[in-house]
Amino acid sequence: MVMRLLWEPLPELWPAAPKRPAGLRGLIAWVRDTAAALSQRDDIERRMRRAATQAIVREAYQQTLAEQDSEHRRPAEFADVWKTRLAALLSRETVEVSGWSQIAIADLDTDLGWSLYAAASRARSEAIARATATPSRPGRVADSQTLFYEFSIAAGDEHPLGHVRYEICELCSVGLLNKISFSLDWQFCGLGTVALRQMEIRHPGLTWYTSGQYSHAKGFYERYRQDSDSPWTEKQHPCRHF
Ligand SMILES: [Zn+2]
Repeated sequence: MVMRLLWEPLPELWPAAPKRPAGLRGLIAWVRDTAAALSQRDDIERRMRRAATQAIVREAYQQTLAEQDSEHRRPAEFADVWKTRLAALLSRETVEVSGWSQIAIADLDTDLGWSLYAAASRARSEAIARATATPSRPGRVADSQTLFYEFSIAAGDEHPLGHVRYEICELCSVGLLNKISFSLDWQFCGLGTVALRQMEIRHPGLTWYTSGQYSHAKGFYERYRQDSDSPWTEKQHPCRHF
């Protein structure tokens, strides 16, 4: 939903479709008025203005996202900074956004911009709150004495927010996280914790390790192992079967 709101053309009547009146007479008038409104000659210009407004909200989002590598902002703080960036863009006379010639802010419907920010920002926090792990799908690797699994972290109609791949040795009761990846949009949202917790729940009694840890993720594993029975340290071969 977040991506759809920011990247796909907005429905003509977004954010609020006017309520259809009750009664046949009212309904006929409504259909006639709606049809007339849609065929107005300024339609294209109006659509362009809406798309330009959307481009500005998206630009503010991407500016905030670009800082995530260094800032690691949690969802609430991310939303605040995104809002501040949007306010800054809307306070300018013109804004340049890739794919657009200069956008004159005075031509825009800033209320639409703020509605769009509110909806996309709410959709983002709802996706994070609703995110769950899909069932583990087994994968086979020839000549392997271990079992491979994969699952995604998903939230309703969003594309998967992240992917996880892991391997277990039942003989030695050992688990190994091979790969965990989230697109930048969904990093620093607590979803890594959701993923690791699921692995522990799905395969109780295993001792878990990771195959490698990026330096920026070390802090994550340090925090996670406080509440886990497993070490979650780096180990390429936690037992001789890997
Ligand atoms: Zn083993």
